[in-house]
Amino acid sequence: MSAADEARVLAAVPTGLHVDGEWAPAASGRTFDVHDPSTGDVIATVADADASDGLRALDAAVAAQAAWAAVPPRTRSDILRRAFDLLRERADDLALLMTLEMGKPLAESRGEVAYGSEFVRWASEEAVRVSGRYGTNPEGTGRTVVLKRPVGPCLLITPWNFPLAMATRKIAPALAAGCTVVVKPADLTPLTTLALVGILAEAGVPHGVVNVVTTTSAGDVCEPLIRDPRLRKLSFTGSTPVGSTLLAQASERVLRTSMELGGNAPFLVFDDADLDAAVEGALLAKFRNVGQACTAANRFLVHEDVADDFVRRVTERVAAMTLGRGTDDGVDVGPLIDDRAVDKAERLVDDAVARGAVVRTGGARVDGTGTFYEATVLDGVRPGSELLTTEIFGPVLAVSTFADEEEAVRKANDTEFGLVAYAFTRDLARGQRLAETLETGMLGLNVGVVSNASAPFGGVKASGLGREGGLEGIQEYLETVYLMTPDPFAA
Ligand code: NAP
Repeated sequence: MSAADEARVLAAVPTGLHVDGEWAPAASGRTFDVHDPSTGDVIATVADADASDGLRALDAAVAAQAAWAAVPPRTRSDILRRAFDLLRERADDLALLMTLEMGKPLAESRGEVAYGSEFVRWASEEAVRVSGRYGTNPEGTGRTVVLKRPVGPCLLITPWNFPLAMATRKIAPALAAGCTVVVKPADLTPLTTLALVGILAEAGVPHGVVNVVTTTSAGDVCEPLIRDPRLRKLSFTGSTPVGSTLLAQASERVLRTSMELGGNAPFLVFDDADLDAAVEGALLAKFRNVGQACTAANRFLVHEDVADDFVRRVTERVAAMTLGRGTDDGVDVGPLIDDRAVDKAERLVDDAVARGAVVRTGGARVDGTGTFYEATVLDGVRPGSELLTTEIFGPVLAVSTFADEEEAVRKANDTEFGLVAYAFTRDLARGQRLAETLETGMLGLNVGVVSNASAPFGGVKASGLGREGGLEGIQEYLETVYLMTPDPFAA
């Protein structure tokens, strides 16, 4: 991709708020800058909404709700399908835009566009399959009818790490179900969401159905909406502390919520594992998105008989990784999102080393332009190291060992989180046992990536509430209503 491509893609992105089908500046006229994390350069300036803009967006979503719910499912499906086709057509430009604002290597951004688009296709297919049921009550005295209807206007709050997929995973099922939405992307990466919303409008989404507010005052803009009785649903993806704050706000009027929160994924390698597959899986589970994924393997727990071999093999591969700007050819490891992320990786690695871990490769921040941390392998991580209980969110592969399955499961479950776990073993019965004993919403058995639009994504414990994707995803945006009628044959 050339500098001209970068300029063209950036020039095409809308930079206003999107309210009731119009692109407009913030009421205050305020704006904020978006940076390229690999250079620190300002790449765009977008509208900075305040609470009044947020409420206008909710007004628009409320006004559009009844008409959108009445649009035939097939028409909603066709609009989403058109959006999917446009996303595929524009995949290269969207991927470049994402790399510019977020930093991940271009190949990974292309992967995210493909993955994120699939939620739109999946929702277009689900839109026409929402159904209820009709039955006779056990007493035979009446008929029960169960029907589904859209929950109503939704607030969708998304993080910076997957700026397209986290947005499509919420917007597409909401629209398929007949809900209108206000979307609040992260201030670090608003551009991909703005481009997506432009595509949805082009695909035929009516005015007011999808509204977007970009802001540097997330709390000030979102809290009045969460407390507004017209809002019927909050779907949030982000950190557990912010999710917990939002749940407290939502509890006041028992607002329906979905929460996709933080993780601390264990990656188990048993002594009977195919080590080649385990190494490939480890690299995917750790270095995808430069380690900045809720699904990133955070704790590598390896059987003591194969640990040396595993560490030697992953170290060879990680030491050969190329670090650089995500737009450049051959880059495996892009920048972290900001200075705070680099500081955190540095702090966690230094703490683990001070407690006895050994650095096999990497282990330091990269001085100079951009926010880079070296791809790192740590061996012999000791109990008590902070990275065992904290999401690293960086390119640090940290290994400790276990002696048997019981210890592996106990260590894997020793966390407040329960989003995803990975396990490599050739023993099918063990794989099945792990599915029943690991406290997790998702398990990758002999694979390093679990995300798929057709599967219910989500966690247990402090990793969240609800599921996105799969048959379950659309249910988050539907209410179940039940109707009782008399027996039609009764005299
Ligand atoms: P974050 O700080 O919690 O922010 C997430 C979103 O919430 C952003 O849009 C943010 O806006 C907004 N926000 C922050 N404070 C808010 C408030 N008081 N009221 C309303 N909105 C508020 O998380 P992040 O750093 O962006 O994302 C990383 C985290 O997300 C990690 O913990 C990761 O595991 C988790 N994650 C989970 C999943 C999943 O599916 N389970 C997927 C991806 C990421 P601003 O950024 O503009 O402040």
